[in-house]
Amino acid sequence: MPRLITRLPADDRTNGWSALLPQRTPRPPLEGEHTFDWVIVGSGYAGIAAARRLAELRPDDAIALLDSGAVGENASGRNSGFAIDLPHVPGDSAASMEQGRRATRVNRFVMADLEQQIAAHGIDCGWERRGRYHAAVTEGVAASALDTYAANLDAWGEPYEMLARDALSARLGTRYYHSAVYTPGTCLMNPAALVRGLADSLPSQVARFEHSAVIEIETNGAAPYVRTERGRIRYGKLILAVNPFAQSFGVFRSRQIPMLLFASLTQPLTPAQQAKLGADPSWGITPAHGVAGSTLRLTPDKRLLIRQGFEYSPSLRTNDERRRAARAQHAQLLAGRFGHLGELTIEHFWMGWLGISHNHAPAFGEVGRNVYAAACCNGSGIVRHTAAGRLIAEHALGVQSELAEDFLIEGTASYIPPRPLRDIGVRWSLMRERASGRQEV
Ligand SMILES: Cc1cc2nc3c(=O)[nH]c(=O)nc-3n(C[C@H](O)[C@H](O)[C@H](O)COP(=O)(O)OP(=O)(O)OC[C@H]3O[C@@H](n4cnc5c(N)ncnc54)[C@H](O)[C@@H]3O)c2cc1C
Repeated sequence: MPRLITRLPADDRTNGWSALLPQRTPRPPLEGEHTFDWVIVGSGYAGIAAARRLAELRPDDAIALLDSGAVGENASGRNSGFAIDLPHVPGDSAASMEQGRRATRVNRFVMADLEQQIAAHGIDCGWERRGRYHAAVTEGVAASALDTYAANLDAWGEPYEMLARDALSARLGTRYYHSAVYTPGTCLMNPAALVRGLADSLPSQVARFEHSAVIEIETNGAAPYVRTERGRIRYGKLILAVNPFAQSFGVFRSRQIPMLLFASLTQPLTPAQQAKLGADPSWGITPAHGVAGSTLRLTPDKRLLIRQGFEYSPSLRTNDERRRAARAQHAQLLAGRFGHLGELTIEHFWMGWLGISHNHAPAFGEVGRNVYAAACCNGSGIVRHTAAGRLIAEHALGVQSELAEDFLIEGTASYIPPRPLRDIGVRWSLMRERASGRQEV
């Protein structure tokens, strides 16, 4: 029986990162009847990485890459633009430390590969190794989260600096934070420019179709297919790289928790405002309290970015009232940190969805006959979903690698009970986390 895909992405045109870029003409939608060896659904980091890897390993195969929207308008182009090399692990047991080491190996492999793609194809995304400040607002969270993180870094032999309020203020230009751990390996970029560049530099062997939402799939029978409004492809193998929309395809429904995030970019700061900032020409802050805290950046063109709001979103939809409240909160939080700069005007405000798992492991593997899927980035999708895309392509070809073993070191996403039990559990646990981090916002 074919399956109808009724819950489609509803990305709007608000993404601030792509608004800063030149206009791009999307690839035409799929039309008519086709046959491809491979169909990949989803043109974010995961789908693009899968397409590139398949093209490398199977240069004679025909590959189609479809997306419901335009490249760069998805979560891959709407995130905060941190490609992070070092993971956070739950504790300091030998097993956790080994998981962390192996996750770092994967992350660094992917970052080197992305750097190579950026250089080879001249992708102008402002990619810069600026490191990141992992910051706590209160002494309590500094003592719990930052000290544990520093102990992990010591055990891994990773370089870092522990910076208290005065030192941080001298670099960032705000006295808001109690302290931070600075690690040098994170790269910052305009994510929409990166994902556009990666997609547009795929080899011609990959046929790309934008504004081509898959609205029906048939995975059984002699001639499996995916259908869009104006076309249909019969495929040999199918890869789903659709992030939380996997649930629309009936995949990972009991493994993945869809989350909604909001972000804002201000207008460029005036020279007078810039003069009141610290010594770092651009920087990125991630919150020590992962659920309650805010991500911030000073971009190379001197805008402030804030990402705040991390809420359960089983419907994969939001409304204007919620958007207005999130935007107002962003303005208030920026003023709390940078009130001494005077008026800050938010120029762009947007939202995006991602998937997390209960055990922080990826949802990954064969999900049907000749159907493969990768989801659940757990908030680090630039690097982790680039890895997931590459590895799901290898998995579909039966290729084994140390990279895959490292990627799956924590296993795969664990089972979560169905709704409405899930709704109660997730909402309760988010409420508890928010309460514990209410001063970290
Ligand atoms: C506000 C925000 C901030 C974030 N910050 C960071 C950060 O700083 N660093 C980091 O590493 N990660 C961050 N993330 C997470 C990261 O953006 C995602 O994990 C990552 O982009 C996921 O990549 P993906 O390719 O799996 O999914 P996506 O980029 O979501 O791509 C999936 C694609 O599937 C398509 N699709 C879905 N259904 C269909 C269908 N039926 N037919 C056709 N196409 C379909 C969608 O249109 C979409 O383009 C952030 C996310 C958000 C929302």
